[in-house]
Amino acid sequence: MIYLDHAATSPPRREVLEAVWPYLTRVTGNPSSAHEAGRAARAGLDAARAGVAQVLRCRPGEVVFTGGGTEADNLAVTGIATAAPRGRRVVVSAIEHPAVLETARALARQGFRVDEVRVDARGVVDLEHLERLVDDGTALVSVMYANNEIGTVQPLAQVSALCRAAGAPLHTDAVQAAGHLPLEVDALGVDALSVSAHKFGGLRGSGALFVRGAVPLEAVTHGGGQEGGRRSGTVDVAGAVGTAVALGLAEAAREEESARLVALRDRLVAGVLDAVPGARLTGHPVQRLPHHASFCFPGVGGETVLLELEAAGIVCSSGSACSAGSEDASHVLLATGLDADTARTAVRFSMGPGTGEQDVEAVLRALPAAVRAAAGA
Ligand code: PLP
Repeated sequence: MIYLDHAATSPPRREVLEAVWPYLTRVTGNPSSAHEAGRAARAGLDAARAGVAQVLRCRPGEVVFTGGGTEADNLAVTGIATAAPRGRRVVVSAIEHPAVLETARALARQGFRVDEVRVDARGVVDLEHLERLVDDGTALVSVMYANNEIGTVQPLAQVSALCRAAGAPLHTDAVQAAGHLPLEVDALGVDALSVSAHKFGGLRGSGALFVRGAVPLEAVTHGGGQEGGRRSGTVDVAGAVGTAVALGLAEAAREEESARLVALRDRLVAGVLDAVPGARLTGHPVQRLPHHASFCFPGVGGETVLLELEAAGIVCSSGSACSAGSEDASHVLLATGLDADTARTAVRFSMGPGTGEQDVEAVLRALPAAVRAAAGA
């Protein structure tokens, strides 16, 4: 099987499995316990926190371990908006992952005003629209670093400058960007940033949220006060260790691996546009994730193309694993101006460490026939 769905999940790295094993078998104390078993677990947790902080270039105390990207996004959006001393208005981009979008909508049901920033046809946020929406009553702005369905990377530095000028805190969902793009939080100009370990070789159900020390955050889960009172619940030390090891490895290899993946991606994009009549690239042609290529094949059901490709030994997705199988057209593609019928024809290929040229060539051989078969289905 050729696996081209790393944006949905990427297998854990061997080094991660080796690093977490002791924390599942020998070092099994509760990191909050004062005895020796607890202290050993705490040492592992502290080292993991320092490791994540080193990649993000933040203080260890600004890292909150969570149960994945969704939880990190929920905590950032609800926690910062609720604690903000200024106003009850939240601004999000129209193409956020549901982990942000639905959380903002939940806030709207509690009386917050939520505005969605438009994007252009390539999925880039409309900075003028953003500037009009953000003011001194804005409790939080959340704009994702890179989109999961169309791969577009946002101009975060410009987004950040607008937010800074208005004094509004900025959160970014870096779940797809982590491991592929720089994550230094000061250079990005963000006040909060979410990552999810299973997108870069860590374990599913593990993640982290960076929250700048000066930004007030109201906890979402209440209890024993772990993670500096920001996320109660016994910490999953093995998950945190796996997150830190995976992030460190991804960061060390990032520049070289990104260049390799960009070359594969560009070959795939050019080959698909050449070989499949009517194929359209979705998202931005250049400002996009290195490992991500997404298309629409107008008139051809995306789900049927996936089945045809799977029969040829290639697995990929229709754009978002969360909405796979759902009949609704993607809110992301609709926001870029595609009509609902075209949006339902989406197919996404996302590559990872094991992907090579031969995999891309296999897609280019199989796809034209898969699209023809799906068109006739
Ligand atoms: N945000 C984005 C952009 C994602 O792509 C995903 C998962 O695909 C999430 C958040 C949710 O992360 P998790 O699967 O760790 O809950």
